[in-house]
Amino acid sequence: MAQPLVFLGPPASGKGTQAQRLAESLGFSYLSTGGLLRRALKDGSTLGEQSRPYLDRGEYVPDEIIVPMVLEWVSGKQGQWILDGFPRTLPQAETLDVALTNAGKVLPRAIVLKVPDEELRRRVTGRIECESCHWTGTGHGSDYCPKCGGTLSAREDDSTARFENRLREFQKLVVPTIRYYKEKSRAYTIDGAGTPDDIHLAVCDLVKSGA
Ligand code: AMP
Repeated sequence: MAQPLVFLGPPASGKGTQAQRLAESLGFSYLSTGGLLRRALKDGSTLGEQSRPYLDRGEYVPDEIIVPMVLEWVSGKQGQWILDGFPRTLPQAETLDVALTNAGKVLPRAIVLKVPDEELRRRVTGRIECESCHWTGTGHGSDYCPKCGGTLSAREDDSTARFENRLREFQKLVVPTIRYYKEKSRAYTIDGAGTPDDIHLAVCDLVKSGA
């Protein structure tokens, strides 16, 4: 049976790149909560202003802000979907499961990308992101996105202090969330230290096998 997916992993593990690539190759709906929040910040919307203090400190945005937004997005989806960056906490994972169960929908599987901390720190140096489509990379000699031609800029939350804080938030909050999916036999760990192409193939194999 078709099953939705959530991508979990530390900051700079490549979850955004992989989730987006998988969604494009399989035609699944895709939502990046981090991308949505960064866009809201740039637009100066209410969501952006509410989230700004947390994003500035490299902290997670409170559930009251993020959860209703994601549940609304999920409730409107009929086919396959992929969430990138949600759930990040145990209450978020539980709330998502309850909402889907109440709606008689299939519960998601979690794809967990595993990357050593030192590799994450190396990757985050010089990371740039497209302001339009959220393509992420480490520079390719142009100020414009290789995918859509949008403007590229450094991610503010990649500064060293903020990155270390995001890594601590990951250990404290996401690791228990991963454990939740493992206990329910719905977590699939993938080595995220290889090349983006190798990881994409591994993710595709896993999804197609319906493991
Ligand atoms: P990401 O692009 O997934 O690394 O997310 C960037 C930032 O957005 C995170 O460090 C959080 O501050 C915020 N964020 C994204 N998703 C969530 C979420 N599910 N819960 C709380 N904060 C989030």
